[in-house]
Amino acid sequence: MNQQFASDNYAGMCPEASHYFLQANQSGHELAYGEDVWTTKVCDHIRELFQTDCQVFFVFNGTAANSLSLASLCQSYHSVICHELAHIETDECGGPEFFSNGSKLLTGKGDNGKLTPDIIEQLVIRRTDVHYPKPKVVSLTQSTEVGTVYSVEEVRAIAAIAKRRHLKVHMDGARFANAVASLDVHPSEITWRAGVDVLCFGGTKNGLPIGEAVVFFDNVMAEDFAYRVKQAGQLASKMRFISAPWLGLLENDVWLSNARHANAMATLLYERIRHLPQLNIMFPPQANGVFVEMPLEISTQLRAKGWRFYQFIGAGGCRLMCAWDTQPETVEALAADIVALCTL
Ligand SMILES: *Cc1c(COP(=O)(O)O)cnc(C)c1O
Repeated sequence: MNQQFASDNYAGMCPEASHYFLQANQSGHELAYGEDVWTTKVCDHIRELFQTDCQVFFVFNGTAANSLSLASLCQSYHSVICHELAHIETDECGGPEFFSNGSKLLTGKGDNGKLTPDIIEQLVIRRTDVHYPKPKVVSLTQSTEVGTVYSVEEVRAIAAIAKRRHLKVHMDGARFANAVASLDVHPSEITWRAGVDVLCFGGTKNGLPIGEAVVFFDNVMAEDFAYRVKQAGQLASKMRFISAPWLGLLENDVWLSNARHANAMATLLYERIRHLPQLNIMFPPQANGVFVEMPLEISTQLRAKGWRFYQFIGAGGCRLMCAWDTQPETVEALAADIVALCTL
């Protein structure tokens, strides 16, 4: 299929990841269930990357990473504060509630897909009686479902209110790389140094074939997590095929160059279409996606020309996502079609 803008998951694996995928196969027999040398190496690499002694686990996808990490922070009578557009609320089929045996998601509205300390505070103090599930976690998506990014100060301010209200801080980092690339900060600055307790570190959308890392910055919280992963059917017996490709992303900061590229392609697309009066760019494009409201005739004709994009994600509108391998020529071709349809 030609390159498309529907999802960063349409892209395949990057050459560096596939190199290690094959290396892990060529190295012969290996210990199973994560006892292998590849997994050890990658976990050490992630600890080096974050400059701290964190606990690292691998699961097959982001839904499992979020659901299981949230379940490990909550009892069944607790609640998780998140944005109303959060993936855990809108796209995980109740996984977080299921795996936590009933913890409720408490959603807040906020501009640009982001929670604020005020919104969190309101949700915490709204009820404090025994009839209401007790807030226990705040979950941030970085970068957000609508292509925006929390600044270091915003993460810090949210973590501060969380600490005051005895909430743990969870970060859905399916597109963590895009946020780090966009902010141009050290990854520790928007995680543990800012007060984040657990990060779901996305690799799939960044160029892996499969697999996300769950990174606990608090060793106590990671206790028993391995059992949860196993019980949920998320423990890969041949773990090396999930972990080894991470080496390709981590070495030489390929994860950042992949993300920088995807972000740059979204910026290019934005620059090409921002001036068109028929379009409404819904959110500042700070990561690898552009969200656009356009007249139905135009989106219909774009589809007729063969372009694929989602209209049900986030806040509606057309979501145009760029990936690690999106070519500038593809962006120019889409932009040219949009411009032509707008100037007919
Ligand atoms: C893609 C994505 C996930 C992970 O989804 P899976 O399909 O379960 O891998 C999680 N959070 C966000 C914000 C995402 O965009």
